[in-house]
Amino acid sequence: MLPEKISEGFRDRELAKKLTERIHENVKGPLRIMEVCGTHTMSIFRHGIRSLLPIDVELISGPGCPVCVTSGGDIDQIIELTEVPGIIIATFGDLLRVPGSKGKNLATARAEGARVEIVYSPVDALKIAESTDQPVVFPAIGFETTIPVIAATVLEAKQKNISNFMLLIYHKVVPPALNALLSDPELALDGLLCPGHVSAIIGEQAYEPLVEQFRIPCVIAGFEPLDILSSIYMLARQVRNNEARVENSYGRVVSREGNPRAREIIEQVFEPCDASWRGLGDIPGSGLKLRKEFKNHDAKLYFGLTSNYVPEPRGCRCGEILTGKVKPPECSLFNSRCTPTNPVGPCMVSSEGTCAAYSKYGEI
Ligand code: SF4
Repeated sequence: MLPEKISEGFRDRELAKKLTERIHENVKGPLRIMEVCGTHTMSIFRHGIRSLLPIDVELISGPGCPVCVTSGGDIDQIIELTEVPGIIIATFGDLLRVPGSKGKNLATARAEGARVEIVYSPVDALKIAESTDQPVVFPAIGFETTIPVIAATVLEAKQKNISNFMLLIYHKVVPPALNALLSDPELALDGLLCPGHVSAIIGEQAYEPLVEQFRIPCVIAGFEPLDILSSIYMLARQVRNNEARVENSYGRVVSREGNPRAREIIEQVFEPCDASWRGLGDIPGSGLKLRKEFKNHDAKLYFGLTSNYVPEPRGCRCGEILTGKVKPPECSLFNSRCTPTNPVGPCMVSSEGTCAAYSKYGEI
């Protein structure tokens, strides 16, 4: 492997070269690996990891971008809520430009006079609620990584009796979605590159039922390019040896048990429910809702909101991209009508979106 192909982003280029050689030695045929997490997708592109791999290795981006998998109906719900007089929507910035089905997004709603505040954590939203009598609604979008801090914020709101702090909950948990993906025979994956941050909470143990049911090799990966390369090597080695087990190349952060305390807080505040995923549809038990003692913080209940089915924007193939069925260049709008500055679908908006990665780095 040519050392010049190994980017400066690798802390140890010699090790990167050795790992690349090991991958080439171990890949003996087509190998379809899904990187579940959007942060992995970005790191793979940024460091040119695809260009180091044998031609037989196909890296397929999965549903690991929380904004991207939030259904169109749920995005519409957030945008429509801006029309309630006096309401304050306190949101992470990555949601601002996600288009709703009626040609609006939170940024345009704000330009038209709605009060939409960018916050960096749910605690910021709680502080806004403390400073006003108006309802402050935080759209809670994210996987197991971000859910504990949101649960802790709900506990704080209850303890301080800040009843105008509310959540629009679109949380999703990863294992049921992986189960749905692996049940799809069309996808025919050979291995999963499992998300490091989510795994820090759920632990290695969370993937064991998937390995048992689908006999799929799983490797938990960190986000440094060397982490990703070594994880691909471990997957290639498992496939070559006809093994299927959970391996962890991110042991400095992820343990077998994960973070039981974080899971306790989640369980204290939330209970499982079904959730609707863009591309994957309704998946039983893949969402979370507030337990009844926290219901006064539930914006959907307070405002009587229901989520309707909303089709993808015309021509947009985000749903198929999120399930690894097509790649962004196969969308006729890619880099023509749909660009990072003028996105049509969420996969082009989000900093973790697959279309944004292809657009920024090209097909490398
Ligand atoms: S390129 Fe744009 S329109 Fe096409 S799938 Fe991606 S986000 Fe949707």
